[in-house]
Order: sequence, then structure tokens, then C-alpha cells
Amino acid sequence: MDVIDLPKQVALRKAAWVKWYAKNKRSLMKMDREILQLHLEAEADTNCLACGNCCRSLGPMILPDDVDRMGKALRIKPSAVIERYLRTDEDGDRVFRSMPCPFLGDDNYCAIYENRPRACREYPHTDRKKFYQIFSLSVKNAETCPIVFKVLEKLTAGG
Ligand code: SF4
Ligand code: SF4
Repeated sequence: MDVIDLPKQVALRKAAWVKWYAKNKRSLMKMDREILQLHLEAEADTNCLACGNCCRSLGPMILPDDVDRMGKALRIKPSAVIERYLRTDEDGDRVFRSMPCPFLGDDNYCAIYENRPRACREYPHTDRKKFYQIFSLSVKNAETCPIVFKVLEKLTAGG
């Protein structure tokens, strides 16, 4: 699946997905195990190293613990991490100064993978509990991430 096509493909399906959610909201609350299975299948079917779309286009929120970990990984002080790599966005959150992420390599490897920010570890969230709480966010994330797109496609198949 070409990630460039994802926004268009989501636009084609969004109304059906939202309709499915309205109809299945209650049962979705008890479907975390099924969704985790869909996530694992989609993940196995997707090569993040051939994608890197999240690291190129989304700006993860960077928490104080992330700054400390990144500083240790880079062997610089937390204040230097902030000065060199981060800015404060319009919501008051710390994010990378620019995207694509400065730690994303040409081969789509993350240079600080073991110490990457929590938001990076948790993305694309389709393996988390209480998925029903992030259905709308996931529709948005499906525009960026093929894993999320595949999960929503399978989840909502059959109406
Ligand atoms: S820190 Fe690593 S995982 Fe996070 S956006 Fe940058 S390259 Fe991607
Ligand atoms: S998590 Fe999703 S968007 Fe990020 S690299 Fe993997 S498939 Fe691409």
C-alpha cells in the first residue's frame, strides 16, 4: 500500500467507518482482544522500515522523561537536547524543531530507537487497551499509517 494514497483511501471510507462506530460502539468496548489480534496481523504484514511515514510527517509530543533519555543516548545535557532539537508548539507542547524527525535515517532507521520518545513507542496505538476511546483518532491516524488503515478496514468489514 502506497502511503501517499492513504488520505484519499481514508476519505473514501471515513463515512462508513464512522457509521460502523456509531452502530458498534458498545460492543467495541469489549473488543480489545480482537483489535490486538488485528493489530498483530497488520503489523506482521507491514514493513515500517519501508515506510517511515510517521517519523517523516507527525510530530510526537516530547515529555521531560523523553528529554532525559534522549540526552543520555546522545551524551549531551537535557538542556542541549531542548536547544538543538526541540521547540514549543502552539499548544505549549515540546515537539521536534522540524520534521522529518532529525533522528530518522535515510534507511528509515531511528538513530535513538532504544531511547525514542514515549509517543514514538506507543504509535500507532492500535495495540492499546480501551481502543474504543481512540477510534476517531485512529481514523485520522489511518491517513498516515498503513497498520491503522488495515486494522480499521478489517474491523469494520461486514458492517
Ligand atoms: S525519534 Fe525515532 S521513532 Fe521517533 S519520530 Fe524520530 S525517528 Fe521516528
Ligand atoms: S508505524 Fe505506521 S506510519 Fe509508522 S513506519 Fe510503521 S507503518 Fe509507517
